[in-house]
Amino acid sequence: MQVTPVYAGEGTAALLAGLSARTPEVEDRLAAALRAMEMVPIAEFRTVAEPARRAERLAAEVGREDLRMRARLVRASVLLRDGDTTGSGRIAHDVHAWAAAHDDRYLLARSHHRLSAFFFHVGDLADALAHAVQSVAYTGDEVPDRMRAEHLMTLAIMLAENGSPDEARGRHREALDLATSIGDAELSLRIVNTMAYTAYTYGDIQEAGELVERMREFPERHGQPLAASELDTIARIEMMQGRYAEAEAALRPVLEGMAGLAPSEGHGLAECLLTVAEAQRLRGAIDAAQATLDRAVAVCEERGLASHRAQIRQEQAALYAATGRFREAYEEYVRFHAESQALQSAQREARARALQAVFETEEARRESIRFREMAQRDALTGLFNRRYVDEHLGGLIDSGTPVSVALVDLDYFKRVNDTLSHAAGDLVLQRVAELLAEAAGDGAVAARLGGEEFLLIFPDIDTDETVRRCEKMRRAIQGHPWRPITGDLPVTASIGVATVTGGRGSPSALLAQADRNLYAAKRAGRDRVVADPAAA
Ligand code: GH3
Ligand code: MG
Ligand code: MG
Repeated sequence: MQVTPVYAGEGTAALLAGLSARTPEVEDRLAAALRAMEMVPIAEFRTVAEPARRAERLAAEVGREDLRMRARLVRASVLLRDGDTTGSGRIAHDVHAWAAAHDDRYLLARSHHRLSAFFFHVGDLADALAHAVQSVAYTGDEVPDRMRAEHLMTLAIMLAENGSPDEARGRHREALDLATSIGDAELSLRIVNTMAYTAYTYGDIQEAGELVERMREFPERHGQPLAASELDTIARIEMMQGRYAEAEAALRPVLEGMAGLAPSEGHGLAECLLTVAEAQRLRGAIDAAQATLDRAVAVCEERGLASHRAQIRQEQAALYAATGRFREAYEEYVRFHAESQALQSAQREARARALQAVFETEEARRESIRFREMAQRDALTGLFNRRYVDEHLGGLIDSGTPVSVALVDLDYFKRVNDTLSHAAGDLVLQRVAELLAEAAGDGAVAARLGGEEFLLIFPDIDTDETVRRCEKMRRAIQGHPWRPITGDLPVTASIGVATVTGGRGSPSALLAQADRNLYAAKRAGRDRVVADPAAA
């Protein structure tokens, strides 16, 4: 277990302190805390893990699903940095589905941003780029400049990774302009660092050199110290220019334990040691290079850094070769090759597992939505079923808006079954379902309660309008050309209407009233609509 370092980012925890579901303006304050967590400097990411959990719970308590989704995304980014790629991907997928279903552009921008990072980590660069593009596309005016700059920077990185350095440069510059305009030195330095690293990987010596000069200005000009990874970029570029002593000097603060490395960043230290060893070898300081490599090995063994351990073997092989010890160089190189092959295939498997795990939950989620929908549908007609009515009618009535219902029962339907066939009866039921759904009009919900009995729910529609619509439904059924299905047998329906207002009454009382009116329609000769007599 590593001890979580304490950084300055306790601010987000403070924003949440003492906040409960009953605090005045809790939603605004929660949103402000989330904004701070979303923009926490990278070095402080762990400080938001616990606040994000609290924010998630609080958002659930106050019923703000959008804020809960934002909190979950914050947690997803912590998980990714902590190495839980699958967990992070699952959340990002989930939140993205929610954002798409609710057309929430902010969460679409954020979830695409997270998904881009996820796909990058599982080695799927094309999807990482696609999500980065979407993220920027959904980044609207309401998104703060720092966040917009981060989304642009991610897009730039993914463009560079996909072999488009020129397009990457454009986005990097846009991101840097934004970060500079808001005076955000931490982000500006990170952007210049990735720009320099991109130039380095593409072998663009001149641009890389210029960017290194800019990086070196940050501590004095902006009070922004250089972190280990940034110093490593500088050293690599110095080395690329043949300036080995400068490369070594750049990393001295890291080796002496004075520069930006969190205690958890053993891999950062190992990487810096490797760079220094290479610089020392290249300037002919063989003993110093060997000592540095020995130290790197110790760091790797202490922290279990397998992939860096393999890379050290490669440098060790080069060091043996530099002193004419070719046999040992060869043997060391063979070990490097075997280890890195094994690591690569293990990594490929881990990535495939992560992708599959995320994909499976996505499937499961889709399935469960499909099943829930199926459970609320009538198989014969596709209309909603009685379970749906049971689950929704009460809530509608309680909302206080007027609710009208119409109970529809086919007349002498038994005759259709008895004279023709059950199959003919089924066809009639299916056609009636279509006619009802069509004629009921906007806002109406059509359900089949069972047998030849249907229920239409008219939310926020008064009795008069409901009766008008029911007349339309009645005529649609009566006037439909039934001959191809039923021959000489007519098909008609009787309809009973009832209305509640002001949240008074229960679903069963409302349905009982509609049933009484339906019975009255049957007794009065069928093929008609009966509602309560208008209140005097
Ligand atoms: P009324 O005008 O009084 O309503 O007469 P009715 O014949 O429609 O009344 P009753 O309720 O006695 O008969 C309903 C019939 O509906 C009984 C059954 O044959 C038929 N039925 C119920 N469910 C289905 C079904 O799923 N498919 C088919 N084809 N027929 C059904
Ligand atoms: Mg019946
Ligand atoms: Mg009937």
